[in-house]
Amino acid sequence: MKMKTTVLIINVLAVLLVQSVMAQTPKAELKQITESVYAYTGVPAGTPGNIFFVNTGIVIGNDAVLVVDTLTSAKEAEGFWADIRKITDKPVRYVVNTHYHLDHVLGNSFFADMGARIIGHVKCREAVISTGDKTLGNPEAFGLPADFWEGTRAVAPDTAFERGMILDLGGVAVKLIYTGFASHSQGSIIVHIPSQDVLFAGDILFTDFHPYLGEGDLPGWEKNLDFIHAMNVSHIIPGHGPLSSNKDIEDLKAYLPFFDKKAKELSAGEKDVEKLTAAMLEVLPKRAGGDFIVTMNLKTRYLTDNGNGQSQKK
Ligand SMILES: [Zn+2]
Repeated sequence: MKMKTTVLIINVLAVLLVQSVMAQTPKAELKQITESVYAYTGVPAGTPGNIFFVNTGIVIGNDAVLVVDTLTSAKEAEGFWADIRKITDKPVRYVVNTHYHLDHVLGNSFFADMGARIIGHVKCREAVISTGDKTLGNPEAFGLPADFWEGTRAVAPDTAFERGMILDLGGVAVKLIYTGFASHSQGSIIVHIPSQDVLFAGDILFTDFHPYLGEGDLPGWEKNLDFIHAMNVSHIIPGHGPLSSNKDIEDLKAYLPFFDKKAKELSAGEKDVEKLTAAMLEVLPKRAGGDFIVTMNLKTRYLTDNGNGQSQKK
Protein backbone atom coordinates (compact mmCIF):
# COMPACT_ATOMS: atom_id res chain seq x y z
CA MET A 1 0.00 0.00 0.00
CA LYS A 2 2.78 2.39 0.99
CA MET A 3 4.69 1.38 -2.14
CA LYS A 4 1.66 2.15 -4.31
CA THR A 5 1.26 5.59 -2.71
CA THR A 6 4.93 6.38 -3.33
CA VAL A 7 4.64 5.39 -7.02
CA LEU A 8 1.49 7.49 -7.30
CA ILE A 9 3.22 10.51 -5.76
CA ILE A 10 6.20 10.11 -8.09
CA ASN A 11 3.86 9.89 -11.08
CA VAL A 12 1.99 12.99 -9.99
CA LEU A 13 5.29 14.82 -9.52
CA ALA A 14 6.46 13.72 -12.98
CA VAL A 15 3.26 15.00 -14.56
CA LEU A 16 3.58 18.32 -12.72
CA LEU A 17 7.20 18.62 -13.85
CA VAL A 18 6.31 17.97 -17.50
CA GLN A 19 3.44 20.45 -17.25
CA SER A 20 5.66 23.15 -15.76
CA VAL A 21 8.36 22.58 -18.42
CA MET A 22 5.71 22.76 -21.11
CA ALA A 23 4.33 25.96 -19.60
CA GLN A 24 7.81 27.49 -19.76
CA THR A 25 8.47 26.44 -23.35
CA PRO A 26 7.64 29.38 -25.59
CA LYS A 27 4.99 28.27 -28.05
CA ALA A 28 4.45 30.67 -30.92
CA GLU A 29 0.86 31.22 -31.96
CA LEU A 30 -0.61 32.74 -35.09
CA LYS A 31 -1.84 36.05 -33.72
CA GLN A 32 -4.67 37.95 -35.33
CA ILE A 33 -3.31 41.25 -36.67
CA THR A 34 -6.46 42.47 -38.46
CA GLU A 35 -9.71 40.88 -39.62
CA SER A 36 -8.05 38.87 -42.44
CA VAL A 37 -4.40 38.66 -41.42
CA TYR A 38 -2.71 36.43 -38.86
CA ALA A 39 1.01 36.20 -38.18
CA TYR A 40 3.69 34.77 -36.00
CA THR A 41 5.48 37.87 -34.72
CA GLY A 42 8.18 38.43 -32.13
CA VAL A 43 8.94 34.71 -32.11
CA PRO A 44 11.35 34.10 -29.20
CA ALA A 45 14.59 32.17 -29.71
CA GLY A 46 14.16 28.54 -28.68
CA THR A 47 10.61 28.28 -29.97
CA PRO A 48 9.94 24.67 -31.02
CA GLY A 49 9.12 24.29 -34.70
CA ASN A 50 10.74 27.62 -35.66
CA ILE A 51 14.48 27.17 -35.42
CA PHE A 52 15.38 30.62 -36.80
CA PHE A 53 12.45 32.42 -35.08
CA VAL A 54 11.22 33.84 -38.36
CA ASN A 55 7.91 35.67 -38.70
CA THR A 56 5.45 34.22 -41.19
CA GLY A 57 1.73 34.69 -41.64
CA ILE A 58 -1.47 34.17 -43.57
CA VAL A 59 -4.05 36.27 -45.38
CA ILE A 60 -7.60 34.89 -45.57
CA GLY A 61 -10.05 35.85 -48.31
CA ASN A 62 -13.58 34.62 -49.05
CA ASP A 63 -12.23 31.89 -51.33
CA ALA A 64 -8.65 31.17 -50.43
CA VAL A 65 -5.75 31.51 -48.03
CA LEU A 66 -2.35 32.96 -48.90
CA VAL A 67 0.73 32.04 -46.87
CA VAL A 68 3.68 34.43 -46.52
CA ASP A 69 6.93 32.42 -46.11
CA THR A 70 7.12 28.80 -45.03
CA LEU A 71 9.70 28.40 -42.21
CA THR A 72 12.84 26.26 -42.44
CA SER A 73 11.73 22.68 -43.21
CA ALA A 74 8.78 20.57 -44.33
CA LYS A 75 8.33 19.49 -40.69
CA GLU A 76 8.17 23.10 -39.50
CA ALA A 77 5.72 23.88 -42.32
CA GLU A 78 3.52 21.02 -41.16
CA GLY A 79 3.29 22.63 -37.71
CA PHE A 80 2.44 25.94 -39.39
CA TRP A 81 -0.27 24.15 -41.39
CA ALA A 82 -1.77 22.72 -38.19
CA ASP A 83 -1.93 26.24 -36.73
CA ILE A 84 -3.60 27.54 -39.93
CA ARG A 85 -6.21 24.79 -39.70
CA LYS A 86 -7.14 25.95 -36.19
CA ILE A 87 -8.20 29.27 -37.78
CA THR A 88 -9.66 28.42 -41.20
CA ASP A 89 -10.48 25.43 -43.39
CA LYS A 90 -10.36 27.43 -46.64
CA PRO A 91 -7.93 26.13 -49.29
CA VAL A 92 -4.34 27.32 -49.02
CA ARG A 93 -4.01 28.32 -52.65
CA TYR A 94 -0.92 30.53 -52.63
CA VAL A 95 2.44 30.70 -50.94
CA VAL A 96 4.52 33.86 -51.34
CA ASN A 97 8.26 33.84 -50.61
CA THR A 98 9.56 37.25 -49.53
CA HIS A 99 13.12 36.11 -50.50
CA TYR A 100 15.21 32.98 -50.97
CA HIS A 101 16.83 32.53 -47.52
CA LEU A 102 16.44 29.09 -45.97
CA ASP A 103 14.23 30.14 -43.05
CA HIS A 104 11.69 31.63 -45.47
CA VAL A 105 11.49 29.00 -48.24
CA LEU A 106 12.46 25.51 -47.09
CA GLY A 107 8.93 24.70 -45.93
CA ASN A 108 7.73 25.24 -49.52
CA SER A 109 7.73 21.54 -50.38
CA PHE A 110 5.10 20.82 -47.74
CA PHE A 111 2.73 23.49 -49.07
CA ALA A 112 3.40 22.52 -52.70
CA ASP A 113 2.43 18.93 -51.81
CA MET A 114 -0.80 20.32 -50.34
CA GLY A 115 -1.55 21.90 -53.71
CA ALA A 116 -0.41 25.50 -53.22
CA ARG A 117 1.14 27.60 -55.95
CA ILE A 118 4.53 29.03 -54.90
CA ILE A 119 5.16 32.65 -55.93
CA GLY A 120 8.24 34.86 -55.69
CA HIS A 121 10.52 37.30 -57.45
CA VAL A 122 12.52 35.91 -60.41
CA LYS A 123 15.76 36.39 -58.43
CA CYS A 124 14.29 34.43 -55.52
CA ARG A 125 13.30 31.62 -57.89
CA GLU A 126 16.79 31.53 -59.44
CA ALA A 127 18.47 31.52 -56.02
CA VAL A 128 16.34 28.65 -54.65
CA ILE A 129 17.10 26.65 -57.80
CA SER A 130 20.84 27.31 -57.59
CA THR A 131 21.36 27.01 -53.80
CA GLY A 132 18.46 24.96 -52.37
CA ASP A 133 19.86 21.46 -52.81
CA LYS A 134 23.32 22.52 -51.65
CA THR A 135 21.79 23.94 -48.46
CA LEU A 136 19.77 20.78 -47.80
CA GLY A 137 22.93 18.68 -48.20
CA ASN A 138 24.79 20.58 -45.49
CA PRO A 139 22.69 21.06 -42.32
CA GLU A 140 25.83 21.16 -40.15
CA ALA A 141 26.90 24.39 -41.86
CA PHE A 142 23.86 26.03 -40.26
CA GLY A 143 24.32 24.37 -36.87
CA LEU A 144 21.39 22.02 -37.53
CA PRO A 145 21.13 18.30 -36.66
CA ALA A 146 21.97 15.88 -39.50
CA ASP A 147 18.34 14.72 -39.88
CA PHE A 148 16.85 18.22 -39.73
CA TRP A 149 15.80 18.26 -43.37
CA GLU A 150 14.49 14.69 -43.55
CA GLY A 151 11.41 14.80 -45.79
CA THR A 152 12.21 18.32 -47.08
CA ARG A 153 12.82 19.18 -50.75
CA ALA A 154 13.98 22.52 -52.15
CA VAL A 155 10.97 23.82 -54.09
CA ALA A 156 11.47 27.11 -55.94
CA PRO A 157 8.59 29.43 -56.84
CA ASP A 158 6.73 27.96 -59.83
CA THR A 159 5.35 31.43 -60.57
CA ALA A 160 7.70 34.41 -60.67
CA PHE A 161 7.51 38.12 -61.42
CA GLU A 162 9.86 41.06 -61.89
CA ARG A 163 8.02 44.13 -60.63
CA GLY A 164 4.68 43.20 -59.14
CA MET A 165 1.56 41.08 -59.00
CA ILE A 166 -1.91 41.17 -57.46
CA LEU A 167 -3.57 38.09 -56.02
CA ASP A 168 -7.30 38.21 -55.30
CA LEU A 169 -8.33 35.87 -52.48
CA GLY A 170 -12.01 36.81 -52.82
CA GLY A 171 -12.73 40.19 -51.28
CA VAL A 172 -9.13 40.62 -50.16
CA ALA A 173 -6.42 41.66 -52.63
CA VAL A 174 -2.74 41.05 -51.94
CA LYS A 175 -0.11 43.15 -53.72
CA LEU A 176 3.37 41.77 -54.26
CA ILE A 177 5.87 44.56 -54.88
CA TYR A 178 9.50 44.64 -55.95
CA THR A 179 10.63 48.25 -55.54
CA GLY A 180 13.19 48.01 -58.34
CA PHE A 181 16.11 48.01 -55.90
CA ALA A 182 17.88 45.09 -54.21
CA SER A 183 18.04 45.26 -50.40
CA HIS A 184 18.60 42.49 -47.82
CA SER A 185 18.92 40.16 -50.81
CA GLN A 186 18.53 40.38 -54.55
CA GLY A 187 14.81 40.08 -55.17
CA SER A 188 13.47 40.77 -51.66
CA ILE A 189 9.82 41.78 -52.00
CA ILE A 190 7.09 43.46 -49.97
CA VAL A 191 3.65 41.91 -49.44
CA HIS A 192 0.97 44.59 -49.00
CA ILE A 193 -2.67 44.02 -48.11
CA PRO A 194 -4.22 47.49 -48.64
CA SER A 195 -7.70 46.66 -47.29
CA GLN A 196 -6.14 45.50 -44.02
CA ASP A 197 -3.51 48.24 -43.71
CA VAL A 198 -0.92 45.47 -43.27
CA LEU A 199 2.48 44.94 -44.85
CA PHE A 200 4.84 41.97 -44.61
CA ALA A 201 8.36 43.37 -45.03
CA GLY A 202 10.26 40.06 -44.99
CA ASP A 203 13.89 40.63 -44.02
CA ILE A 204 13.89 44.15 -45.45
CA LEU A 205 12.97 44.92 -41.83
CA PHE A 206 14.54 43.43 -38.71
CA THR A 207 13.12 44.92 -35.51
CA ASP A 208 15.02 44.59 -32.22
CA PHE A 209 17.25 42.07 -34.03
CA HIS A 210 20.61 42.69 -35.64
CA PRO A 211 19.95 42.42 -39.38
CA TYR A 212 21.85 39.93 -41.53
CA LEU A 213 23.49 42.15 -44.15
CA GLY A 214 26.15 39.86 -45.62
CA GLU A 215 24.53 39.96 -49.05
CA GLY A 216 22.85 43.30 -48.62
CA ASP A 217 22.82 46.13 -51.12
CA LEU A 218 22.96 48.96 -48.58
CA PRO A 219 22.02 51.95 -50.80
CA GLY A 220 19.19 49.91 -52.35
CA TRP A 221 18.11 48.71 -48.90
CA GLU A 222 17.74 52.32 -47.71
CA LYS A 223 15.60 53.07 -50.77
CA ASN A 224 13.37 50.11 -49.88
CA LEU A 225 13.01 51.38 -46.31
CA ASP A 226 12.06 54.83 -47.65
CA PHE A 227 9.54 53.18 -49.97
CA ILE A 228 7.85 51.29 -47.12
CA HIS A 229 7.98 54.36 -44.86
CA ALA A 230 6.17 56.43 -47.51
CA MET A 231 3.40 53.81 -47.73
CA ASN A 232 2.47 54.76 -44.15
CA VAL A 233 1.08 51.34 -43.24
CA SER A 234 -0.19 50.83 -39.69
CA HIS A 235 0.80 47.18 -39.16
CA ILE A 236 4.25 46.17 -40.43
CA ILE A 237 5.33 42.58 -39.91
CA PRO A 238 9.15 42.34 -40.03
CA GLY A 239 11.08 39.21 -41.05
CA HIS A 240 12.26 38.90 -37.44
CA GLY A 241 11.06 40.69 -34.32
CA PRO A 242 7.80 42.14 -33.00
CA LEU A 243 4.96 43.78 -34.92
CA SER A 244 6.40 47.07 -36.16
CA SER A 245 5.69 50.59 -37.35
CA ASN A 246 7.45 53.37 -39.26
CA LYS A 247 9.56 54.11 -36.17
CA ASP A 248 11.25 50.71 -36.61
CA ILE A 249 11.86 51.47 -40.30
CA GLU A 250 13.61 54.69 -39.24
CA ASP A 251 15.72 52.80 -36.68
CA LEU A 252 16.95 50.27 -39.24
CA LYS A 253 17.62 53.03 -41.77
CA ALA A 254 19.94 54.66 -39.23
CA TYR A 255 21.50 51.33 -38.21
CA LEU A 256 22.65 50.17 -41.68
CA PRO A 257 25.05 52.99 -42.61
CA PHE A 258 26.25 53.19 -39.00
CA PHE A 259 27.15 49.48 -39.03
CA ASP A 260 28.90 49.88 -42.37
CA LYS A 261 30.93 52.87 -41.27
CA LYS A 262 31.97 51.34 -37.94
CA ALA A 263 32.76 47.92 -39.44
CA LYS A 264 35.01 49.52 -42.07
CA GLU A 265 36.77 51.67 -39.47
CA LEU A 266 37.30 48.92 -36.91
CA SER A 267 38.17 46.13 -39.37
CA ALA A 268 40.97 48.26 -40.79
CA GLY A 269 42.91 47.70 -37.55
CA GLU A 270 41.42 44.50 -36.09
CA LYS A 271 41.20 41.24 -38.06
CA ASP A 272 40.25 38.90 -35.19
CA VAL A 273 36.55 38.23 -35.65
CA GLU A 274 35.76 37.70 -31.95
CA LYS A 275 37.48 40.91 -30.88
CA LEU A 276 35.93 42.80 -33.75
CA THR A 277 32.44 41.49 -32.89
CA ALA A 278 32.91 42.58 -29.27
CA ALA A 279 34.06 46.04 -30.39
CA MET A 280 31.07 46.37 -32.73
CA LEU A 281 28.59 45.28 -30.07
CA GLU A 282 29.89 48.06 -27.82
CA VAL A 283 28.93 50.76 -30.27
CA LEU A 284 25.86 49.24 -31.97
CA PRO A 285 22.34 49.77 -30.61
CA LYS A 286 21.18 46.93 -28.37
CA ARG A 287 19.35 44.30 -30.39
CA ALA A 288 18.91 40.51 -30.16
CA GLY A 289 21.01 37.98 -32.07
CA GLY A 290 24.19 40.02 -31.60
CA ASP A 291 27.07 37.57 -31.39
CA PHE A 292 25.80 35.29 -34.12
CA ILE A 293 24.57 37.78 -36.70
CA VAL A 294 27.21 40.48 -36.22
CA THR A 295 29.95 37.83 -36.52
CA MET A 296 28.34 36.51 -39.70
CA ASN A 297 28.09 40.03 -41.13
CA LEU A 298 31.76 40.74 -40.37
CA LYS A 299 32.94 37.42 -41.82
CA THR A 300 30.94 37.63 -45.03
CA ARG A 301 31.46 41.28 -45.77
CA TYR A 302 34.32 42.97 -43.92
CA LEU A 303 36.92 40.30 -43.14
CA THR A 304 37.16 38.84 -46.65
CA ASP A 305 40.29 39.17 -48.83
CA ASN A 306 38.89 42.24 -50.50
CA GLY A 307 36.87 43.14 -47.40
CA ASN A 308 35.69 46.62 -48.13
CA GLY A 309 32.07 46.53 -47.11
CA GLN A 310 30.93 45.67 -50.60
CA SER A 311 28.48 42.81 -50.92
CA GLN A 312 30.40 39.76 -52.09
CA LYS A 313 27.46 38.53 -54.11
CA LYS A 314 26.45 40.35 -57.20
ZN1 LIG B 1 16.91 36.71 -44.97
